[in-house]
Amino acid sequence: MKLTGRIIIALIAGAIVGLLLNIFAPNVYNVLDPYLFTPLGRIFLNLISMLVVPIVFLSIILGAAGLGDPKKLGRIGLKTITYFLITTSIAIIIGLIVAGVVQPGEAGNFDVESAEFSAEKAPPVGETLLNIIPKNPLDAMTQGNMLQIIAFALFIGLALTALGEKTKGVLNLVEQGNDIMMYLVGVVMKFAPYGTFGLIASAIGSQGWSAIKAMGIYMICVLAALIIHGLLTYGGTILLLARKSPVWFFKNFAPAMSVAFSTSSSNATLPISMEVAQTRLNVPKSISSFVQPLGATINMDGTAIMQGVATLFIAQVYGIDLSLGELATVVLTAVLASIGTAGVPGVGLIMLAMVLSSVGLPVEGIGLILGIDRVLDMARTAVNISGDAACAVYVAETEKKKTIKAQRSGA
Ligand code: ASP
Repeated sequence: MKLTGRIIIALIAGAIVGLLLNIFAPNVYNVLDPYLFTPLGRIFLNLISMLVVPIVFLSIILGAAGLGDPKKLGRIGLKTITYFLITTSIAIIIGLIVAGVVQPGEAGNFDVESAEFSAEKAPPVGETLLNIIPKNPLDAMTQGNMLQIIAFALFIGLALTALGEKTKGVLNLVEQGNDIMMYLVGVVMKFAPYGTFGLIASAIGSQGWSAIKAMGIYMICVLAALIIHGLLTYGGTILLLARKSPVWFFKNFAPAMSVAFSTSSSNATLPISMEVAQTRLNVPKSISSFVQPLGATINMDGTAIMQGVATLFIAQVYGIDLSLGELATVVLTAVLASIGTAGVPGVGLIMLAMVLSSVGLPVEGIGLILGIDRVLDMARTAVNISGDAACAVYVAETEKKKTIKAQRSGA
């Protein structure tokens, strides 16, 4: 059976096993989790995380050098960042509309008194942006600071282009290093079905079924907004901007989405989503290696959707009305928050504190959704990386047309 099929079966099996154990045999879960599910998941997570920093570093150097002229890099960069900002804004607006229409905060009695959340951990976004240029590149790599690694790699790629023949040897070395990493992604992926099973069984099994039921309407709102955004925004991008079939896109990208779903981490999924985009969605290496790592770091549409829904949900629970101006503030701060959200599990919730405080909503409200966020994190991470891939396909297809046009007018 093909790998995609095996991963999806593992995903469903993990969910069923986790849910059954949670409802009928929590004691068995308590034994199985530390000795089976968690180790399986951790092995897989560590295996793919191991490849992230070298892949981002090497592939961005190659991408920047492969694009050759810095003007082209600038054009692609601008297109990519504009796309990210527009789609993230659309994402939050969809989240706000769904929560505004369905009113999940009115659907039940929520225990506001005992809701607790301390918001100290949210990193300031301005700081993140200022720190893009690493003072110490090695430090950036050991810390896994993606934006800094991207910046350093871009500089090296541009230098390699400028120096041309003289540094051909280094470029070859980087190319071969990248080939080694991509080969390893293929090897690690063989373990994906087992890892996925462990991660999902562990995550679903630890979620109290009663907590899920109590927060049902809120969860359905987030999931519905994620699906609407995926179909409309990404489907629309693929159909109208890239002129390809959305079915082709989602079908081929499914393995990466399943891995994102099970790991809840855009960063950890990066090696796989890049490989899938390059081999199955025909995105040239130079574009994929630039757009996807950047997207995994700053483009988080799924997270933005959760933040939109959660903000309105909390406002409704606390009986606070938000004006149109305040809603606009929510859109703006959620875009910033999603840029500042690292592609690792659970950070979106921490950044939500920033959105809430921008319009004076009680940050403790996060305590209400804390319990079920693990499940939603899985779904939103799958959307987060799909946005990056949709952008990569869009950029690749429009660049292809540009080249063909240029060749024609040159001939
Ligand atoms: N887990 C998400 C990601 O890695 C970020 C978040 O929303 O917490 O994409």
